[in-house]
Amino acid sequence: MTTQTTTDRPIVLDLQDIHKNFGSLEVLKGVSLTAHDGDVISILGSSGSGKSTFLRCINLLEKPSQGRIFVGDDELLLTPKKGELVAKNPKQLEKLRSKIGFVFQNFNLWPHKTILQNIIEAPTQVLKIPKAEVIAQAERLLAKVGLSDKKDAYPDNLSGGQRQRVAIARALAMNPQVILFDEPTSALDPELVNEVLAVIKELADEGRTMLIVTHDMRFAKEVSNTVVFLHQGRIEEMGSPSEVFDNPKSERVREFMASHR
Ligand code: ADP
Ligand code: MG
Repeated sequence: MTTQTTTDRPIVLDLQDIHKNFGSLEVLKGVSLTAHDGDVISILGSSGSGKSTFLRCINLLEKPSQGRIFVGDDELLLTPKKGELVAKNPKQLEKLRSKIGFVFQNFNLWPHKTILQNIIEAPTQVLKIPKAEVIAQAERLLAKVGLSDKKDAYPDNLSGGQRQRVAIARALAMNPQVILFDEPTSALDPELVNEVLAVIKELADEGRTMLIVTHDMRFAKEVSNTVVFLHQGRIEEMGSPSEVFDNPKSERVREFMASHR
């Protein structure tokens, strides 16, 4: 694996100078990050450093105040409105969003839909793929995450680890070019963490492009080729896992690593 500065792999996601204000609070102060095909980028930082806000700005779940967003060769067309940037073209936003999977801390499954219905919803409604095809793919994905027997169950009947594996299958069903994970194991009981991490590790081994916000240092070190450390809305340090974990330049990063072992 190589770090992102030394690769010819195509760019999947390019975030340029992303700023975000909540009122007078400047939460992101110009964050730039490029993900090439196959990159697994872990995003670390203290609570409140802007990790979730940054991920959410990528697909406009939060509207950035400034910055440019490229998904593959396409720039997301943005226009200013009341101090924020909004999508110029809702159709384009929908198209680009469909290429970006998002896995949340709290799963965000639809409680009144079965597991299978949760997975097939977006591919049938957004991508308009024929239902039979989507169901066949959903069944393959459920097998992949080890939940073939749960397709007719409801989210409430599943453990947190199982729900998160469904959420990952749901993201994969859109065949995304990149998957964003926001602390995918933070809401889980400790004994359920590994089953979710194992699935994410498998995706990394398959060459999936992923951005992963996590507090799990051991996992970040194992799975990622690039580590980003955010501090107060800026990138404090970025590099390979061995650079950032074993030999951080920033005293702040060193302290963070020491307190998270
Ligand atoms: P992290 O994910 O690194 O813990 P967040 O991105 O959630 O950090 O939050 C960064 C900062 O932005 C925090 O100070 C948080 O309180 C603030 N913030 C996040 N979302 C909102 C919001 N919707 N309105 C106002 N402030 C917010
Ligand atoms: Mg967060």
